[in-house]
Amino acid sequence: MLRAGGVTIHFLNAGFWYDDGGAQFGIVPRELWSREKPPNARNRIKMSLTCPLIVSGQDVILVDTGIGNRLSEREVQIYTPDPADRLVKGLDALGLAPQDVTHVVLSHLHFDHVGGLIDKTAEGEARPIFSQAQVVIQRAEWELATRPPDERLAAAYRHAPECLHALGRIELLDGDTRLTPEVRTAVSGGHTAPHQCVIVEAGGTGLIHLADIVPTTSHLRPAWNAAYDTDPLATIAAKKRFFAEAQAGNLWVSFSHDDTLAAGRLAPQTGKKPELAETIPIADWRSTRP
Ligand SMILES: [Zn+2]
Repeated sequence: MLRAGGVTIHFLNAGFWYDDGGAQFGIVPRELWSREKPPNARNRIKMSLTCPLIVSGQDVILVDTGIGNRLSEREVQIYTPDPADRLVKGLDALGLAPQDVTHVVLSHLHFDHVGGLIDKTAEGEARPIFSQAQVVIQRAEWELATRPPDERLAAAYRHAPECLHALGRIELLDGDTRLTPEVRTAVSGGHTAPHQCVIVEAGGTGLIHLADIVPTTSHLRPAWNAAYDTDPLATIAAKKRFFAEAQAGNLWVSFSHDDTLAAGRLAPQTGKKPELAETIPIADWRSTRP
């Protein structure tokens, strides 16, 4: 948990899942990334689903929602996500219910960020979980997901339409937007062209949630980027820009998928890889699967 002025930031863990290590590290040789993120027998690395919850006065802002319960049997075999109830259990541990969430901000619309918006019933019906929340998405991301222009993007967004279809209140943003006096979104590009980060600033400190620009601490290195990124050069530029902003504003940075850490404070840079001076571990759900 972090406090910034009158704002409290919790790092909810929507569980763990596994993804192909090569896909997560793109052109970085396995020889290098496997030292930091050792793959299992199926070449997959353990990932978290870290979703910051920003509480400020009447505003309860959830950033991203995890995978949810709507993957096919085949996809469950590939990604082996934890049970989908962990996000709601995390809220419950804070004395909050899903209907207390006032805003859900989506960094982008890939399945591991958008899937937890809905609960899919045994009958196949999709019910919004955060029934009172305004769901905040970049308009350009919405357009890519609902009308993908090519086969690669159609595959990347294949899960989004079902999750979005059931929603009542969607707010589409055109670029960087201030949501409350302390919370704003900033478009990063890189992972997807309209991918957005969420920035909290209050009381002389705060947070930048980097989402999939820096999914794990290994991706703090500017040149270590996921094969999923549609524009890796934009990812590199975004990292440099947000790291400088974090240093200048005394802000913490947080990661969408690191299996150990939810957030950290960047140390003054000395070597090639930005290091963390202080860290916040992810909530431990004691996932027992290999
Ligand atoms: Zn992701």
